[in-house]
Amino acid sequence: MSSKWVYSFGGGRAEGRSDMKNLLGGKGANLAEMANLGIPVPPGFTIPTEACTFYYQNGNTYPEGLQDQVMVALATVEQIMGAKFGDQTNPLLVSVRSGARASMPGMMDTILNLGLNDVSVEGLAKRSGDARFAYDSYRRFIQMYSDVVLGVDHHHFEEILEEAKDDRNVKLDTELSADDWKKVVAKYKDKVKAAMGRPFPQDVREQLWGAVGAVFGSWMNQRAITYRRLHDIPESWGTAVNVQAMVFGNMGEDCCTGVCFTRDPSTGDNDFYGEFLINAQGEDVVAGIRTPQQLTIHGRELQRSDLPSMEEAMPVVFKELNAIRHKLEAHYKDMQDMEFTVQQGRLWMLQTRTGKRTTKAALKIAVDMAREGLITRKDAIGRIDPAALDQLLHPTLDPKASRTMLARGLPASPGAASGKVVFSAEDAEKWVKERKEKVILVRIETSPEDIGGMHVSEGILTTRGGMTSHAAVVARGMGTPCVAGAGEIRVDYAAKTFKVAGKVIAEGDVITLDGGTGEVFLGAVPTIQPELTGDFATLMEWVDTIRTMKVRTNAETPLDAATARKFGAEGIGLCRTEHMFFAPERILAVREMILASDEKGRRAALAKLLPFQRQDFIDLFTIMQGLPVTIRLLDPPLHEFLPHTDADIAEIAKAANVDVAAVKARNASLHESNPMLGHRGCRLGITYPEIYEMQARAIFEAAVSVSQETGRTVTPEVMIPLVGAKKELDLMKDAVDKIAAEVFAAMGQSVKYHVGTMIELPRAALLAGDIAQTAEFFSFGTNDLTQTTFGMSRDDSGPFLEVYRAKGIYEHDPFAQLDQEGVGELIKIAAERGRATRPGLKLGICGEHGGDPSSVGFCQKVGLDYVSCSPYRVPIARLAAAQAVLGKEGGSGTK
Ligand code: PEP
Ligand code: MG
Repeated sequence: MSSKWVYSFGGGRAEGRSDMKNLLGGKGANLAEMANLGIPVPPGFTIPTEACTFYYQNGNTYPEGLQDQVMVALATVEQIMGAKFGDQTNPLLVSVRSGARASMPGMMDTILNLGLNDVSVEGLAKRSGDARFAYDSYRRFIQMYSDVVLGVDHHHFEEILEEAKDDRNVKLDTELSADDWKKVVAKYKDKVKAAMGRPFPQDVREQLWGAVGAVFGSWMNQRAITYRRLHDIPESWGTAVNVQAMVFGNMGEDCCTGVCFTRDPSTGDNDFYGEFLINAQGEDVVAGIRTPQQLTIHGRELQRSDLPSMEEAMPVVFKELNAIRHKLEAHYKDMQDMEFTVQQGRLWMLQTRTGKRTTKAALKIAVDMAREGLITRKDAIGRIDPAALDQLLHPTLDPKASRTMLARGLPASPGAASGKVVFSAEDAEKWVKERKEKVILVRIETSPEDIGGMHVSEGILTTRGGMTSHAAVVARGMGTPCVAGAGEIRVDYAAKTFKVAGKVIAEGDVITLDGGTGEVFLGAVPTIQPELTGDFATLMEWVDTIRTMKVRTNAETPLDAATARKFGAEGIGLCRTEHMFFAPERILAVREMILASDEKGRRAALAKLLPFQRQDFIDLFTIMQGLPVTIRLLDPPLHEFLPHTDADIAEIAKAANVDVAAVKARNASLHESNPMLGHRGCRLGITYPEIYEMQARAIFEAAVSVSQETGRTVTPEVMIPLVGAKKELDLMKDAVDKIAAEVFAAMGQSVKYHVGTMIELPRAALLAGDIAQTAEFFSFGTNDLTQTTFGMSRDDSGPFLEVYRAKGIYEHDPFAQLDQEGVGELIKIAAERGRATRPGLKLGICGEHGGDPSSVGFCQKVGLDYVSCSPYRVPIARLAAAQAVLGKEGGSGTK
C-alpha cells in the first residue's frame, strides 16, 4: 500500500489525473484533470479511496501519515487562496465531499462552509462586506454539520428557522437580516448543545476530521448500500474524500451557481444546456427549491421561461463558461456534466464528469461524435449500454388517442407510463410488491431516501425542481418516465390527494405521464410502439458490421416473429411449440390426446392438431423468408395442458366420450411430485413417439409447401429438448428422419433440414461428445441448465435468491445473468466436446440469457454461433454481441 494519502490540486497544477479514478474517485480525478488543463478550479486535495478501505479494515481509524499530509495540503490551499483556515480576518472555508469511482448522486454526505466558527464568521463578514451572507453561511454550516456529522436531525433546525420567519412575519429566507441570522445561529448552537451535551465544535481542525469521518461513514449508509446494489457497485471500492476551498455563489447579485451539460442530456442535441440560480449555493439547484433560470437564450425559449438566461444576464462569464464547455468536451471526448459557481463575477468550475443521458441522447451523441470525428465508430458502439436500449423500445402515447390533460411540467425522462397515484416511496413499494399494482409516484420533490420507491414506479411526477433535480437525474438513469416541476399541481400529503385544473386526484386514481413532453393526463392513455429509425438505425448498422455472432429470436406467433424481424432478428432460435397448443380451437384436441387411453386414441386427436400446427409453421417460414427456423418439439409436462375447472372437465369428457370421473382419474394419474424433472422433454417423445411424429410431419409439410410456393429455400432445424443420453436423440432423430422421408416422397420434393438438441442437463453437457455424433447442432437451454446445475427451481427460487443476493452468496440472479463459473463451465465443456466430435458443430443459446448483455459477452468468448432472445431484446443482443467483439463486457442487464 502506498504511503501517499493526499493528492493536491489547484493553482494550475495537480498531483492526480483523470485516469486515476480508482484511487481518487471520479470527482477527484476530474478536478485534478481540470486543474491540469488550466481551467479555474478552487484549490483543494483528495484523500484517496485506499484511505477509506484502510478505515474500514482497521476499525474506523486513519492510516499513519494521513493527518500530517492533510495539514501540508491544507497549507497549500491557504497559500493559493491567500486565506487561513479558522482565521479571524480572512478565513478559508472548505467543502468536504465524497467521490466514489462511479457516480452515486446524492447518496453520500457533503459538508459545505466548513471552517466557520464564532470567530471566523466575523472575518467572513468583514472580508465579504456582507454580515448577512456570513451568518447565513454559518447557520447553513451548523445545520449541515450537525445533521451529517453529529446526527442532530435537520428538522430541529428547520423548526427554528420557521419560527424565526414567523417572528419577523416574513416568508422567504432572503428576507431575514444579519441580526436575524445571528439569532438563528445562537439558537442552532443551543439546540446542538442540548442534543449532544457539548457545544458545537469551534476548533476548525476538529470540524475537518469530523467531516472526513462522516464522508467515509456515509459509504455504508443505507441509501448508498441500496444504490450500490441497484447499480452493481462493489462495496470494496470505497469512496475518496475531496476537500476544496469554498467559493460562493450566494455573495450577491453578481454571484450564481449552476449545473450544465455540454450537450442536451435529454435529446442529445449539440446545444449547451444548463440551469443556474443567481445568489445561491449549489444545493439550492439540486434540491429544486427555487426554479432555476436557463443558461442560454435557446434554452429559455424552449422552456418558455420568463426569467433571463445567463447568456443575457451575465454575457461575459457565459462566454467563458461556453469556452470551457468546448475545451472539456474536446478533452474528454464525451458529453460532460459540469457544476460551476460564479463568485463576484469570477467563474469557478467545481466539477466535471461524464454526463448521464437518456438512451435517445446517448445514441444521438455517440453517432454525432463519430460523424464529427471526435470518436471512432467503435467508440460510439462502446458508448451505448445495451440494457438501456430497452428505453427506446418502450411505448409512447398514441397521438390519436383522446386525452384529458391535467398539467404540464418538464420533460425530465422520456417514455410514457400509466399507473395508480401514490404519494410516498414507501407506498410505491408496498403497492407494487404486495398489491401487484402499477404506480406513479407523485412527490413535491424527491430525495435520495426515495430511491427504492422510485425504482419500482412506472413513472415519477414532481411538482418542484428542474431538469437537474434529484427526480430528473435519477429517473433518467433508471429509464423511468418522469415529469418534473409541474408547478400547477398542489400536493396534499396528509389527504393523499393532489389538486390541479379544478380537479382532485386521490391516491389510487390512474394518471398517465409523457416524460418526453412533460405532460400529465387523467386516466390511462393508450400507447404505441416506437419506430426504430435515425440514430438507432445508424448505430445498428455499424453494430452489424462488427459483430460476429448471429442474433435470432425466440418466437412462436407470427406477431412476435414479425416484430423480431423488424428489430433485426436473423432467424428463429427457439419456437416453443407447446405455446401453440393453448389456443381455444386446439386445446380440446390436445386434452383429448393426453386423456386417450391408447395410441389409437392419441393418433386420432393428433390428427386434429396437425392442420393447425402445419399452418403455424407455414406462417413462421413465410415471415422468416429463408432464414433458419429452429422448432423445438413438445417439451412441458403434460399436466400443464389438463383441465382444472369443472366446466372444462365436463367439456373434455363430452368431447372424448368418457365420463367425468375418468377425466379426473387421468388428471390424478398425471400428477408428478417434481414435474420439471418428470415426464417432459424428449421423454414424452420416447414414450409417445406419435406426438413428435405429428409435429415433424407438420414441419416438413409446411417447409415443402412454403418452398414450393415462394421458391425460397426453407431449412428447418428440428430440436429435441431435455436430452441426457445419445440414445434418446438417436431414437428421436430416427423418428424425424422417417417422417421426413415419407413427407418428401408424398409431396414429390424434399428440403434440407437438421436435427439437433438442446443442452439443458449437466449430463448432456458432459456427454456432449457422444451426443454430437447424432446432433447436427446444439442450443443451450440455459433456463433449464441453470435450474438443473444449481438444483434450484426456476419457478420457486425468486424469494430465497433475493436473500442469497443480499448475503452476497450469488452476486446476480443466475436465471437473469448467466452463472459463468458454474453453468458457463458446463457450456464450455459441451462446446469443446461437441466440436471435438463434429468440427463446426453449430452452437447457440436460447435461454433467457441470450438477451442479457453480460451473458452475450460470455457466449462470444465461448465461440457460440448465435444467441436467441425475445423479440424486444434483439437490438440489445446485437449491440452486446458487437461490444463483445470489441472486448467490452456488457452491462449487468439489471437496472
Ligand atoms: C431453456 O430451458 O433454456 C429453454 C430455452 O427452454 P424452456 O425455457 O422452454 O424450458
Ligand atoms: Mg428448457
